[in-house]
Amino acid sequence: MKKVVKFGGSSLASAEQFMKVGNIIRSDEERRFVVPSAPGKRFDGDTKVTDMLYACYALAEKDHNFMTEMSKIEERYNEIIAGLKLDLDLTNEFDRIIDNFKKKKGKDYAASRGEYLNGIIMANYLGFEFVDPADSIRFNEAGVFDAELTNKLLSKQLADMESAVIPGFYGAMADGTVKTFSRGGSDITGSIVAKAVQADVYENWTDVSGFLIADPRIIDKPQGIDIITYAELRELSYMGATVLHEDAIFPVRKEGIPINIKNTNAPEDEGTWIVGNTCQKSKYVITGIAGKKGFASINIEKDMMNSEVGFGRKVLQVFEEYNISFEHMPSGIDTLSVMVHQSEFVDKEQNILSGINKAVNPDSIDIQSDLALIAVVGRGMRAQRGTAGRIFSALAHANVNVRMIDQGSSELNIIIGVSNDDFEAAIKAIYSIFVITRL
Ligand code: ASP
Repeated sequence: MKKVVKFGGSSLASAEQFMKVGNIIRSDEERRFVVPSAPGKRFDGDTKVTDMLYACYALAEKDHNFMTEMSKIEERYNEIIAGLKLDLDLTNEFDRIIDNFKKKKGKDYAASRGEYLNGIIMANYLGFEFVDPADSIRFNEAGVFDAELTNKLLSKQLADMESAVIPGFYGAMADGTVKTFSRGGSDITGSIVAKAVQADVYENWTDVSGFLIADPRIIDKPQGIDIITYAELRELSYMGATVLHEDAIFPVRKEGIPINIKNTNAPEDEGTWIVGNTCQKSKYVITGIAGKKGFASINIEKDMMNSEVGFGRKVLQVFEEYNISFEHMPSGIDTLSVMVHQSEFVDKEQNILSGINKAVNPDSIDIQSDLALIAVVGRGMRAQRGTAGRIFSALAHANVNVRMIDQGSSELNIIIGVSNDDFEAAIKAIYSIFVITRL
């Protein structure tokens, strides 16, 4: 068995956290490939090293003196090295980084040093080999991640290694220019490494014991999710559930490598398993609930719309012309609604309305704003009668007016539109009916 283990910033924020990580890795010899983030926050109000690096580089770019900021970053690392009692000196590394900042090597280069330096410390601490992802995680000239080439280079590079530390978050273009993924991107590196070494499991260690059924800012102490499929997770993360970077599932998904979200501060907790398929039923009919506020719905009415070939296409073409992506498109016989992000739509509103008028000559167009979308997701819903009925009676009892309903064709989710003001009440009502009273 081979495991790839990725540790997030809060798991590596201090020497104390590093020791927990060391114990976790040493307690299982299958944990052979380690992907660290940069040191995160040690306490509320602390600053992540990545953010310190961005701020420091912003000064360098303007030819301002950045040495005070850089010494603070150096101190963070030296504190960890001292706490772990390592025989390691990063002075030369920092000299090179300072030099490269002066040469304006780029924002991505600057940010990537957070993971790079943490990787050096981690490799030294564990006695593992250090692998610089700039040599094998590849981006093309347009800055887009090249999955195929990366897999070729990285699997070759790691093939004969018993164990290694590969810093997260970055790679490089063919000419050596360092490129990072988007924020939180070490999760993606972990997944890429898991694919390259054909790991049995990708363990993603963070500071929570996996995913929760609903947002803890809305539901007091929500239950955790034991097992979730990639498809369900896609639906939930799209609707705002965070923990894992959205793009982190792609490399492992095709390979059938499961991801296990674990808690560095409570390693005995089972956490959440993310898998391709499972015959395991979820504990409840629903696997999770997530949602987002800030949508608008453009409702178009025209008699005999159903028999007008190309009606939908013409409407959507107007949105395309103004570069607006739509989220949902519920339709009736003579009505069609297009749901969009209000913030993207608002400036182009009048242009789009006149575009629709010209394109399809509707009887009326009406706009509803300040809507929230809630996704109720669960592989268990397919086999269960009456799920939608239960959701709507729960919402009716909570005095929530449902403005839109959309059941995905996979029957994996039901999307409900409510007004922004009803968002929290709606989530509470749905959680309560499925998880608390388990009706
Ligand atoms: N350190 C980077 C960030 O703060 C990447 C990561 O932690 O995954 O976004």
